[in-house]
Amino acid sequence: MIPTILVIEDEPAIQELLAINLKHGGFDVIRAGSAEEGLSFIRAALPDLLILDWMLPAQSGISLAKKLRSDDRTKELPIILLTARVHEEDKILGLEAGADDYVTKPFSPKELVARVRAVLRRRAPHLAGEEIEIGGLKLNPATHRVTSGDQTIELGPSEFRLLFYLMTRPERVHTRAQLLDGVWGDHVFIEERTVDVHIRRLRAALEPYGHHDRIETVRGTGYRFCGN
Ligand code: CA
Repeated sequence: MIPTILVIEDEPAIQELLAINLKHGGFDVIRAGSAEEGLSFIRAALPDLLILDWMLPAQSGISLAKKLRSDDRTKELPIILLTARVHEEDKILGLEAGADDYVTKPFSPKELVARVRAVLRRRAPHLAGEEIEIGGLKLNPATHRVTSGDQTIELGPSEFRLLFYLMTRPERVHTRAQLLDGVWGDHVFIEERTVDVHIRRLRAALEPYGHHDRIETVRGTGYRFCGN
């Protein structure tokens, strides 16, 4: 699975430099020139990480970071703040606003890509291609293989993405709308009950291996993947 990085930067040359290096580093890149434009992308589909410039026209990067941290849907979005400021107190302000890391301009593109990888490894190990294992059920994001013991579990593409989403967010209750947004992207027109169809198929595929009970129905709300 290729992580999607949203870059919000108003200086075209820096935006271009970031995009080229991130693409070269194996990431999908979406670009925005303002906090408002960035927010509209985030509303359409959550990126896996945000590179956010501090000094933006109209709304600042710090103000946007605080807004994202106070919203349930975006509070766990990894954020790297980018800025020309070098003072220690600004760094503290940035980290207090909820940034995971802080890169000062001018930066080395190689170092920035390394920081992106480090933040993803820490905040979202599955995006770094590492295998996820819960109670003997293993999912490998790099090879798209799902296994139980030495047996391979065959899943359709939607069921694989759904299982990936659930296994990387265990113990949380997900509404159908959240699953649609996270698994299919909410810009895609799919009815909420379609989620139930895919959950049923996923449970059926896991049943022969005894993992179907991990997907719990939370009455009136949605679904939870049992992580213990
Ligand atoms: Ca700027």
